[in-house]
Amino acid sequence: MVLALLAGSCAAPSGFRKGPLPREVTFWQPWLLNSAASPYRKLVVEVDAVRGAEPPQAWLDGLAAMLRQQCNKPDGVRVVRGQTISAAEAASSSISALALRYLDGPPAGAAFIYVLYYNSAMNPALKTANPHAVVFPYPCAIFIDRNYNQAGFGDVLGGVILRHEVGHLLGAARDPSHGDGAHCRNQDCLMNPVFNYIPELAAIGEAPTPQTWFCGDCLADMARWRASPAPANLRFRGPFLARREGRYTVMTMPNTVHLHLGGSGSLPVELMRKAVRDAGAGPLRSREGFILSVSATGDPLTVQAALNEALHDPAAPVRQAAQLYRSKLAAP
Ligand SMILES: [Zn+2]
Ligand SMILES: [Zn+2]
Repeated sequence: MVLALLAGSCAAPSGFRKGPLPREVTFWQPWLLNSAASPYRKLVVEVDAVRGAEPPQAWLDGLAAMLRQQCNKPDGVRVVRGQTISAAEAASSSISALALRYLDGPPAGAAFIYVLYYNSAMNPALKTANPHAVVFPYPCAIFIDRNYNQAGFGDVLGGVILRHEVGHLLGAARDPSHGDGAHCRNQDCLMNPVFNYIPELAAIGEAPTPQTWFCGDCLADMARWRASPAPANLRFRGPFLARREGRYTVMTMPNTVHLHLGGSGSLPVELMRKAVRDAGAGPLRSREGFILSVSATGDPLTVQAALNEALHDPAAPVRQAAQLYRSKLAAP
């Protein structure tokens, strides 16, 4: 029996996207923060889990080994377990709410990947979800539902699935000559959107899939990225990934976009963190359902100039946040 299972929510029903990745995913090249040695010479992966959904240590060790090979991080790669989330809390929280509450972010001087393991069977409001990497607006998070486990797929291939998802955050298969910009066309490649899973092989001690590693094309993608300098306007500020543009800064967390108008010297990171935690249940949402918030520092002319720039940001949720702020300013 061969089970073909989709891995990755970025996939169209066929497994491949109909068109290229949206520009707002690609124009700022955030995956280079993970791949390149500059500006961050080290990489930290934070792994949070709901109690009962924790990943085995072997999956995390396999991920650390892959990252040491595929990223240019002279000061090292660390995969660290964060807090364990109680079953009671997981039973009544959305996945992005858990991430916004528990994501600690990188220590100073490190690039960052966040992984959350949960089990949708523990929350009646959730449907079973494919394991998936999120490439926008916070292109450094992975969510893995342990309930996605048909015929033991998730438990047996958990280490391989984790490497596939992290491959998305390293720009593997980004080159359209061998894929759709997210997944690879090579059927034996770890970055193919479909895993050929043969559970009987596991029973006799063999790998139950041929797709345990990247093909040569995907390896070449990641080699190219780790030799490319990351854009100078991207930095982690606390747990936020910040993109500085002209007179404004776009701060993101999972499912969340915060627009700061004015100087970046004194970004109120702690206040933003609190605003985002509180805004999880609040009213401001983009058309895609992202949590939006806006802050401003400086004199009214500076803020107005920053607002005019943000209204033309390449990312739609940033433009929407700017429009909401403009309507608030215009209100009597
Ligand atoms: Zn995928
Ligand atoms: Zn490939």
